[in-house]
Amino acid sequence: MSPNARALVYAATRLGAALALGLLLGWILGNMTTGLGISLGGFLGWQLYHLARVDFWLRRRAYIEPPDTSGMWGDVVAQVSRLHRRKRFHKQRMLQIFRELRRATAAMPDGIVILNAAQEILWFNRAAAQLLRLERRQDIGLRIDNLIRQEQLGRYLRNGDFSSAVTVPGRGDGPQRLSIQAVPYGEEQCILLVRDVTQQLRLETMRRDFVANASHELRTPLTVIAGYLETMAADPQLPAELATPIEEMRHQAVRMTRVIEHLLELSRLETAEGPAPRTPVDVPQMLRTLIADARQRCGTTRQIELDLRSGDGLLGVEAELHSAFANIVENAIKYSRDGGRIVVSWGIDGGSAMFAVRDEGIGIAAEHLPRLTERFYRASTNGGRGRSGSGLGLAIVKHVLQRHEAELQVESVEGRGSRFACVFPPSRIGTAALRKAAS
Ligand code: ADP
Repeated sequence: MSPNARALVYAATRLGAALALGLLLGWILGNMTTGLGISLGGFLGWQLYHLARVDFWLRRRAYIEPPDTSGMWGDVVAQVSRLHRRKRFHKQRMLQIFRELRRATAAMPDGIVILNAAQEILWFNRAAAQLLRLERRQDIGLRIDNLIRQEQLGRYLRNGDFSSAVTVPGRGDGPQRLSIQAVPYGEEQCILLVRDVTQQLRLETMRRDFVANASHELRTPLTVIAGYLETMAADPQLPAELATPIEEMRHQAVRMTRVIEHLLELSRLETAEGPAPRTPVDVPQMLRTLIADARQRCGTTRQIELDLRSGDGLLGVEAELHSAFANIVENAIKYSRDGGRIVVSWGIDGGSAMFAVRDEGIGIAAEHLPRLTERFYRASTNGGRGRSGSGLGLAIVKHVLQRHEAELQVESVEGRGSRFACVFPPSRIGTAALRKAAS
């Protein structure tokens, strides 16, 4: 029998006994109602007495032992005690987990700040206190952007695009730089991960300066070498056995000059901070010139078409945009076969501006697509003379697009061709009217 059923049987037996006693009393007294009244009154009093004991215990159960009762009341007391024990166990476990979590976050080298929906500070760890110079007593409850008065941080938190981190100067006077990444969770709450990136940025600057200086130093001697090789290659008295090696050397010197120019361009782009300035750029005109040049260079080996679907331009840096578009067109030419068709298009699509180049060339295997914009990454090892490049073209494209808040989309099927598209947000579209006003 289940404990529940047993308690019920027990209670029913007691009630039955009380009724029997009442009947017996009624028979003795000669009045059944009085007998039953006395007996049931006693029974009720007994129950009330137990109820009062249980109630008394429930109110003070943290300090006193449970009452020693049997039957249904004993069952109730046992159930409540069990629930109470379970609750205490879970509470202690939660407390233990919470303490562990606090110890772990305190030991983390990165700062953590928890903000509520109003961007007020709810909690922060020791590293955050050091990095952001926060004081536990006075700063909890304050809005983070009132405390860290950095325009970039305010804009970052307002924009709500937390896909990447924002870098802000530290709160002191020194050269400290902090990277802050927001991670939203729950109902509009968020965690800020704060990291000191001063050293990292210093190393990055050193690396950039080194590449820029080395490239700069190499450019002049290479130009001289390439110039002499060109003169030698053009010399009619050049012995026949030297013609091929000289031509190969000249070709490699030209290639190295191109690598150096691309490296210098990349380092210029990396040094330029923030988004590109918004100067109106006449994209249709730029593309007409670019395509005319490309057609002249390729002659009849490629069919290059220009599909201009919009007269609008862009707001950005003309030289950078020209470099990015030229690199994509150059690749389409380089990685196409003779007679291959290349379609260059420009238009507005769903509010965004799109520059796209489609070719019917060698295409790119799917595994290479995610890495194409890495420096010196080359998908095709088929780098014959016509296809030798610097491996930096798409890295430049990526940087230019980043500075113009644009995105590079690549679709390709190996052996069938590729489509490279640059998608610019509506805020970067310079309408024809705006362009005319600027000119
Ligand atoms: P590269 O100077 O080698 O062309 P890029 O950075 O411009 O360097 O391009 C990186 C790699 O992407 C290239 O080496 C090539 O393998 C691949 N690629 C770029 N554009 C195309 C294209 N239109 N068709 C096929 N492969 C391409």
